[in-house]
Amino acid sequence: MIQNFVAQDACCLEMDPEIYIHNIKEIRSLLGDKVKICAIIKSDAYGHGIKEMIDSIVRSGVEYISAVDNCEFRIIIKWFRENNINHIRLFRTAPATKEELIESLINNWDVEEVVGSLDQAQYYSKIINDISDSLGKDIIVKVHINVETAMGRMGFRKISDIQFTQKIKNLNVIGIMTHLAGEYQVPPQDEVATRTQMEMFQEVLSQLKLDQNVIKHVANSGASATKKYTHFDMVRVGQIAFGEDNNQYLDPKGVIKPIFLKWKTIVAIIIRDIPPNSPIGYNGIQKTRSDKSSITATIRVGYDYGFPQYGCLNKHLVLIRGKRFPIIGKTSMNMLVVDITDQDQDNQVQLGDEVVIIGKQGTEYISWEEFSQKQQKKTLVQCLEIANQCPKIIVKSK
Ligand SMILES: *Cc1c(COP(=O)(O)O)cnc(C)c1O
Repeated sequence: MIQNFVAQDACCLEMDPEIYIHNIKEIRSLLGDKVKICAIIKSDAYGHGIKEMIDSIVRSGVEYISAVDNCEFRIIIKWFRENNINHIRLFRTAPATKEELIESLINNWDVEEVVGSLDQAQYYSKIINDISDSLGKDIIVKVHINVETAMGRMGFRKISDIQFTQKIKNLNVIGIMTHLAGEYQVPPQDEVATRTQMEMFQEVLSQLKLDQNVIKHVANSGASATKKYTHFDMVRVGQIAFGEDNNQYLDPKGVIKPIFLKWKTIVAIIIRDIPPNSPIGYNGIQKTRSDKSSITATIRVGYDYGFPQYGCLNKHLVLIRGKRFPIIGKTSMNMLVVDITDQDQDNQVQLGDEVVIIGKQGTEYISWEEFSQKQQKKTLVQCLEIANQCPKIIVKSK
């Protein structure tokens, strides 16, 4: 037993992937059963980790999964093949590079690609031709036409270019989409922006002769939750499925739950009797209090895990033994100092104590919003660099 002991990472995110299943069920009840759900899990499942999340995402019953980078698709494909999953379709939410496309084709990943210009469609067609020749078989790639309506990053601007793309032999147009640029503004601005984009999209649809089976999809989390007229055949939900509701109006009934539970670490060393005005951290930008000697706890989090280097200047707090304590001194790469001089005498901080940076401890709570207000960022999604850098620990649903 002791030979196989593996230490848990000191600094980690605690999360409950099963909540994804609950959230998709709630979203489904809003959409009705005719609308397909595409689970957007780019950026390593919005920082939650695709490896940690994939089982729950598959079991949530979504019809599509969408990622961006091939490192993400490799994990998904491995999971699909090991578990005989073949009812979920895969879609890439960003234009593939040549190498990404080649890897996907030679390994039969069957990833559906997005195309947003005639140039790009022809570029893909040529790559597919070359691969078909070298493998000695005809390959056809399923693509979704992305229509420009406001994002300006990857959409067709001319009907004739779309029509030309429809005629390219080794591309099979199976979807048509656009992306809403104006969601997540405060109502009614979101409504105005989305209505305008929808009119442009509808106009393009009316000019194209599309097969009934071509999947039309537009809505992201915001529109899925608030605007039925954007649902079409499928919605693409990212943040809301992870329980992220940065505009409270997305989930007025409060049924969506966050998968992320806490960002935590451990007290690694306690130092007592520190003389007044002692410098702490690089460049001595902060010193201990001048009125009396201090006690500090050094905790295992640093800027390498996404904690702000100058967090001390923004008066960041952490929770230890259910009490808020201020940090002191510039953040090191893997360590941070907390001033625990004011600890309760009958509940003193001990080595190995849990430290909560974001989340609940006892009756105290530091929200992402509170943490991030100090960084001009608002939510988990906007703190992706943190989520992406911290190891994940899975906690089972109760
Ligand atoms: C990221 C993304 C989504 C999901 O957005 P959320 O706001 O997280 O729901 C949907 N569609 C496209 C094209 C995207 O890039």
